[in-house]
Amino acid sequence: MKFLFNKLAFYGLLIGGVYACSVPEREDPFVGLAAARWDVGKSANFLLSDDRFTNLELEIVYMEGYKPTDYLMDSMVEFLQEITRKPGGIEIIEKEIPAEGKEYYSTQDIGDLEDRYRERYNEGNTVSVFFLVVDGSFMPDEEGFFTIGAAYRNTSMVLFGKRIFENSGGFGRPSRGTLETTTALHELGHLLGLVNVGSEMVTPHEDQGKEYHCDDDSCLMYWAVETDNVLQFTPQTIPELDENCRNDLRANGGR
Ligand SMILES: [Zn+2]
Ligand SMILES: [Zn+2]
Repeated sequence: MKFLFNKLAFYGLLIGGVYACSVPEREDPFVGLAAARWDVGKSANFLLSDDRFTNLELEIVYMEGYKPTDYLMDSMVEFLQEITRKPGGIEIIEKEIPAEGKEYYSTQDIGDLEDRYRERYNEGNTVSVFFLVVDGSFMPDEEGFFTIGAAYRNTSMVLFGKRIFENSGGFGRPSRGTLETTTALHELGHLLGLVNVGSEMVTPHEDQGKEYHCDDDSCLMYWAVETDNVLQFTPQTIPELDENCRNDLRANGGR
């Protein structure tokens, strides 16, 4: 009897407590750390439209020796200005962190680095993207291609600086700026929901063999763009988004 009594009293207290705090101070689920732990593409509409966030900030955290080129930073801002609606502006925040000196980084390593170094999260009218540049490589995939970059959470992306240095410069190869910028814009495209990962397809154009990528091999969202296979088809210029990808972004709140 005593046990039952206590249990009932506990439930009563719990319900009273939940009611009391849920009415006056409801937490905003779209800001702070919790809103940066979703899957890739889940913040596409927040990044594209001005419905919830009118400002966008890009926190670029790079390991010593791997500072992105000005060309990359200018191109990212230009790209975002062209396709997103952010009347409050797009801002870049840069920070250098110590090099880890590792040959390879796992998904877990990348997540840990973000936990340690990310300082900016969605707040007020500003949606925030975390962009990490590391001094090593990601494991080659099952087909033997090395990944140059990756989007791994709703507002998180990484570039593997070492692979960019190894694959750029010299005759017949892209400049470092072109290669890293191409990769960065491709990963940003994933965060914006391309292809079929948060921004619904207006016309079906997802690659049959490579999910979340565009079937147009001249498009920025073609799968090979984020692997070292990119060197075989687009050596000197940055591919643009094709019409299908542009339409998906427009339909999800972009311009
Ligand atoms: Zn990709
Ligand atoms: Zn496309």
